[in-house]
Amino acid sequence: MKKTVTALAFCYVFFIAKGQENIIDRYAGTITKEDLKDYLSILSSDALEGRETGTRGQKMAAAFIKSHFTEIGLQPGVSNLNPPQYFQDVPLEISSPGETYLVVNGQRKENFHKVIYYGTQNVPEESEIEVVFGGDGQNEVLKSMDLKDKGLVVFNKAGFQAYSTIRKKIQEMGAKALLVVNTDSIEAFNKLARQFENYMGKGSLQLPSKNTDEQNIGVFFLPPELAVEILDNDVDHIEKAIEAQKAGDSKAFNKIKPGKIGYKITREVKTIVSENVLGYLEGNENKEELIIITAHYDHIGRVGDEINNGADDDGSGTVAVMEIAQAFAEAKQNGHGPRRSILFMAVTGEEKGLLGSQYYVENPVYRLENTMVNLNIDMIGRIDAKYEAHHDYVYLVGSDRLSNELHEISENINEKYTGLKLDYTYNDENHPDRIYYRSDHWNFAKNNIPVIFYFNGTHPDYHRPTDTVDKIAFETLQKRTKLIFHTAWELANRENRIALNKQ
Ligand SMILES: [Zn+2]
Repeated sequence: MKKTVTALAFCYVFFIAKGQENIIDRYAGTITKEDLKDYLSILSSDALEGRETGTRGQKMAAAFIKSHFTEIGLQPGVSNLNPPQYFQDVPLEISSPGETYLVVNGQRKENFHKVIYYGTQNVPEESEIEVVFGGDGQNEVLKSMDLKDKGLVVFNKAGFQAYSTIRKKIQEMGAKALLVVNTDSIEAFNKLARQFENYMGKGSLQLPSKNTDEQNIGVFFLPPELAVEILDNDVDHIEKAIEAQKAGDSKAFNKIKPGKIGYKITREVKTIVSENVLGYLEGNENKEELIIITAHYDHIGRVGDEINNGADDDGSGTVAVMEIAQAFAEAKQNGHGPRRSILFMAVTGEEKGLLGSQYYVENPVYRLENTMVNLNIDMIGRIDAKYEAHHDYVYLVGSDRLSNELHEISENINEKYTGLKLDYTYNDENHPDRIYYRSDHWNFAKNNIPVIFYFNGTHPDYHRPTDTVDKIAFETLQKRTKLIFHTAWELANRENRIALNKQ
């Protein structure tokens, strides 16, 4: 008798478990290559013009995702508006260089032509300052100089990190301007000026009054001839002073006559609105607890006549979110809704500095304390060089940073359902690419919300017009999407909220 009961109980548990497995597999099975390709062919088509934040193409993409969320039966995610909306408006400023120039010997040297200004300072009235020579800007040299209210000229080709260090140092000393010669000839300088004009001319996007550090004096780049004209007017003197200083004469630069410059720096600021697209699926039991699944849907638009279609970046992540949402929505309609709630969010402005996710965490629709985890997807449709021969892989970043439990769940789920090779190369804190800080999950991690970031690694088509839909490995994209679906299913349905590591 006892034995029979045990056997029956065993069978019962087995069938429940088996039934549950069948249910999960059934909905995982709705994630198909065909759907992924269908959505991605639309998102990355030329008609959407590269989905640049704030442009017509981005609005079209937002409308497309919203209509998908509506059609599959997600609720409008922005529930704190009346009536609730699918769009969270994200106000953004486009800040572009305005009238900006140096005056040397009575002549105006315009930005992007005779000089290049890289920075955010605002000097609306032309002002005049004394300028002194600082060699290559080494600390040793600078510390004996009086830079209060002065400009400093340095010859230094070490790159932006070095200029930023010098800039901070001399700002502490009260300097007003940093002028860097980082090219050997006027030709090299002109080339650099064209690059800067293309890069900065169309303006940079930011959240209103964020990321602009008006205290930051920035950097003027100038060709060597202009530096010489400003200072001593004799290139030999300057070269000799550099030699003498290298040989140990710490006062060598004092022999270079200081000069004077006038300068003016202004910016033009225009306000636009972009949108995060939010679809919400309410949980059955722990409704207030939330899982957020994100991918950024906009991209970098056109460069001249060429369109950056952004099929992998991040069309691939966006369509994965759409397919996962559809699988969960269908499950719920059939009575298999998740225990916790899920927010599916297509995020704006990632390429411009993680702006949409920053705006969301600063203006959360659902309490961040109740947000259990963020699964973020950015580029999962391609195969990188390392895995050319073995496509079944994905890079995971962040899974063990805030919750070891999350990491274990992620590993176990993969083993059980998808069997992909999980590669943690980019999770190394010392990895030079610093991927943990470079996509939208970072804004959640900053708020102590555990994250997993899914990524296919880099490829030569990154941020180029050649990131197109024909290069997407849909078989692999489907497998990776299923991994994220299964992980989300487990997180949404497990008994307990995942624990944070003790720190
Ligand atoms: Zn991206």
